[in-house]
Amino acid sequence: MSITAAESKPQAHAVSPKGMLIGGQWVEAKSGNHITVENPAKRSPIADVPRAGAADVDAAVEAAAKAFPAWSKVPPRERGRALLRIADALEGRAEEVARTIALETGNALRTQARGEARMTADIFRYFGGLGSELKGETIPLGEHVLSYTRREPLGVVGAIIPWNAPVMLGALKIAPALCAGNVMVMKAAEDAPLGVLLMAEICQEFLPPGVLNVLTGYGEECGGPLANHPKIRKLSFTGSTEVGKIVMRAAAERIVPVSLELGGKSPSIVYPDADEDWAVDGIIAAMRFTRQSQSCTAGSRLFLHEDIFDSFLGKLEKKTTALKIGDPLDEATDIGTIINNKQFTKVCRYVDEGLKRSDAKLVFGGLPPKTGPLSEGYYAIPTVFADRSNDWRLAREEIFGPVLVAIRWSDEAEAIRMANDSHYGLAAYVWTHDIGAGLRTAHAIESGWVQVNQGGGQVPGMSYGGYKQSGIGREFSLEGMLDSFTQRKSVTVNLAV
Ligand code: NAD
Repeated sequence: MSITAAESKPQAHAVSPKGMLIGGQWVEAKSGNHITVENPAKRSPIADVPRAGAADVDAAVEAAAKAFPAWSKVPPRERGRALLRIADALEGRAEEVARTIALETGNALRTQARGEARMTADIFRYFGGLGSELKGETIPLGEHVLSYTRREPLGVVGAIIPWNAPVMLGALKIAPALCAGNVMVMKAAEDAPLGVLLMAEICQEFLPPGVLNVLTGYGEECGGPLANHPKIRKLSFTGSTEVGKIVMRAAAERIVPVSLELGGKSPSIVYPDADEDWAVDGIIAAMRFTRQSQSCTAGSRLFLHEDIFDSFLGKLEKKTTALKIGDPLDEATDIGTIINNKQFTKVCRYVDEGLKRSDAKLVFGGLPPKTGPLSEGYYAIPTVFADRSNDWRLAREEIFGPVLVAIRWSDEAEAIRMANDSHYGLAAYVWTHDIGAGLRTAHAIESGWVQVNQGGGQVPGMSYGGYKQSGIGREFSLEGMLDSFTQRKSVTVNLAV
């Protein structure tokens, strides 16, 4: 795959993917149909990818099933070595990966896409070192019995991923599943398949045919048959809670184990002693404003102590409005674009609703400009509303755009109650110099991941995943690999015979 200057070839697309990866071959959809991928910064087409359907899913699952017996018997450390080689190759092509991500997702190259490309290589490197950890236990059942467990792979894993950090989220499934001896059919998101196809191309240099298969297609048309395929032995899904429920129903039909990494509406609780610049920077990071807040872990509910409410919002406005919104591929840009028209319209609708609400105050931001360079793409403006209430739509629903709702609190128990008053439970952030208050609150919050005084992203090795409707299972770590991508077998031997 290559990126060329789009303007030099007006009729051609900027990126030319080779097709989908099935059984080590680059193929078109059996129907011959395509999906056109758009550059969200220009609202213009950049590539065509195959539009896979049920027949392509069948072919990919068959190719994976054929590759499974041999791959599952490769010694784990050798499988790990393949992943380490992939990590090196990804690092060597990190800039190409980053530019592809920026082009198709609208995530800014400097602040986001390069980090995602580096993280992708790190993920392969981390899991590449874990082959020897696929160990079992011996169970002391007596002198004349040998009882031990084996960690065995499940078989063909069906993986479905979203568009918001597509390459990194793809790597988070591929690397642990393959290290553990599974094979995979992955469906990339229809809005951002190009970076995933490029990663697959790099992976394929180091893997036997069929171990990794990557399809491009729409949710119901391609993801549906994959989730329901009788030869799939494990489903691993990252995306919205709504679609997660559909995937879980498909898994329930066949009693297939399922891991779900779903949506969030994560709280940030700021104590009165944290009315300082470092905490403001942390809130901007936690809200993922430089990823247009298109992040499952965005700290999109800001609970500010009443003593610092206005002063903190003043500082937040100054720092956030200094960020530069613009072309994702421009080195000067901090904030890029929303992924597509549907999401852009949805974000604008939420902003419009906030503007019309009489008891909510617009602190800064608002609707995107209708003229000028930013109107050429799906550029949304970081927007903050202040409200007394925690129960309106903007404070409860996952907007997946740069709309932050600030809510006052005066009593710690009240702040924790409001923070927990959500069906989501993915991430949370607490900001204070008081370590007792910070940890007390961290322990009381119903979320899979609480950060105190920092708003960073996930790091390989941490067990990451959601409470409540934010998900089931963990995949990010050694424990995640063992829990999500292996099954335990007990072998009990009578030594007295
Ligand atoms: P989505 O649920 O709409 O789509 C995710 C994937 O599912 C896509 O590949 C899509 O094609 C596929 N899909 C859609 N309908 C399907 C169906 N009926 N059957 C099978 N597959 C189907 O989500 P999205 O808009 O791509 O991504 C945003 C969502 O992902 C947000 O809710 C975000 O919070 C969540 N997310 C969660 C995590 C996490 O780690 N918890 C990480 C990133 C994104």
